[in-house]
Amino acid sequence: MKDNYPAILGGDKIRNKNFKPRKTINKDEINSVVEVLKSDVLSAFIGAPGDKFLGGKNVIEFEEKWKQKYNHKHAISVNSWTSGLQICVGSIGIQPGDEVICSPYSMSASATTVLFYGGIPVFADIDPVSFNISPISIREKITKRTKAILVVHIFGGCADMDSIMNIANEFNLKVIEDAAQAPGIKYKGKPVGSIGDIGGFSLNFHKHIHCGEGGMIVTNDKNLAFRAQLIRNHGENYSKKLRHNELSNIIGGNYRLTELQAAIGILQLDKLDELIKHRNKLANYLHEEINKISCLRTTPHSEDIGHSYYVFPIKYDEKKTGLSRNLFVKSVNAEFLDAEGWESVPLTEGYVEPLYLNPIYQHKIAIGKDGYPFNFNKNIIYNYDKGLCPVTENMYYKEMILSPIVREPLEIVDMNDLIAAIKKVISNKEIIAEKLMINNSDEIYTPVDAASSKEVR
Ligand SMILES: *Cc1c(COP(=O)(O)O)cnc(C)c1O
Repeated sequence: MKDNYPAILGGDKIRNKNFKPRKTINKDEINSVVEVLKSDVLSAFIGAPGDKFLGGKNVIEFEEKWKQKYNHKHAISVNSWTSGLQICVGSIGIQPGDEVICSPYSMSASATTVLFYGGIPVFADIDPVSFNISPISIREKITKRTKAILVVHIFGGCADMDSIMNIANEFNLKVIEDAAQAPGIKYKGKPVGSIGDIGGFSLNFHKHIHCGEGGMIVTNDKNLAFRAQLIRNHGENYSKKLRHNELSNIIGGNYRLTELQAAIGILQLDKLDELIKHRNKLANYLHEEINKISCLRTTPHSEDIGHSYYVFPIKYDEKKTGLSRNLFVKSVNAEFLDAEGWESVPLTEGYVEPLYLNPIYQHKIAIGKDGYPFNFNKNIIYNYDKGLCPVTENMYYKEMILSPIVREPLEIVDMNDLIAAIKKVISNKEIIAEKLMINNSDEIYTPVDAASSKEVR
């Protein structure tokens, strides 16, 4: 029988073995990559009009498979989802001075990609239950310069797309969906990613499925798909041939996926549904157990709206325990061995700092030295001050706890260890507070962040 004395104070840990790491690449992917290597064609793209403008055999097969599986009319693979977002911003025609409404509670690229085209990210606050951009806040941020809304489906849960699409229709705005964390799910029967005008997914190592680095753009709009293909692959070489005036402003990049990555992606895609199903099984269990604990709350998702559980979000109420969130998270994690990799950290806190607090917005300078594009609209002063989005700040500084262990190959028994560790800490809250809160009372805020603790996300 282990004693109940908290590990953070020197007691026994709840668990003395590591969580099994994720392992998604196996023999099939290895064989497939070897085939590509033997063929000697590691990429078939040519950046000029012709039959290789859209890439080689694996790239085309991967795109076909993705669009058919999830019922999008078009799929365009790219070398990262950051590239993908940049292409989406370009393909909807964002120009210098255009405002794009963004969520501040996301990975930085969900807003910085707007800046590449001289667009200006305007941050709307999030909803305190879904953690996604709030339609009420979006309305408050619309001006005559607003051209688009960049929606993120954060942690794998869907934003309120019905309300957002209504606003977009009312004000004639484009909608980009950043579904990096939410692949393979449906919102009221519609595949996430192409509910708005254009959107897509990340295939980086940490996402549900991956091919090293990569991304997939999806859209049901033929023109946007073509523009995306042009931007992906030196579109400037194409415009002479097309003599489309409206396309002559396309500056292309090289955002092409290799045949090696596409070959991996084709096989990874077969695994996505099972991975999401497994994560949902673990998440359903956590919802049930965690909502029995008075200081913690979760947001179960409704039947007709999917969730892919990139990570599992939990709200913490420090008033109910008398422990700061930081001390609570550290105490729970102390019940486990040091994690190997961020997907094995039992609890992390805060997620990312509200994006507007990033120096690029604080100093309002993105390109050149004069404040471009923030100074493009004369007499308009953009606000990125602390306090701008109180709900987001509250999540970051006070309430949000994330668990990245809601993932394969972990099982319910592993979730039980997490629950046991949480309950143990709560049953010892007085003694932990007594011994550690005094020293913690004026501690500098250092969130337990999986990204910065061991590996970089
Ligand atoms: C991962 C991620 C990105 C960036 O994707 P990459 O493929 O790493 O470039 C963008 N947005 C969100 C919400 C993400 O989680």
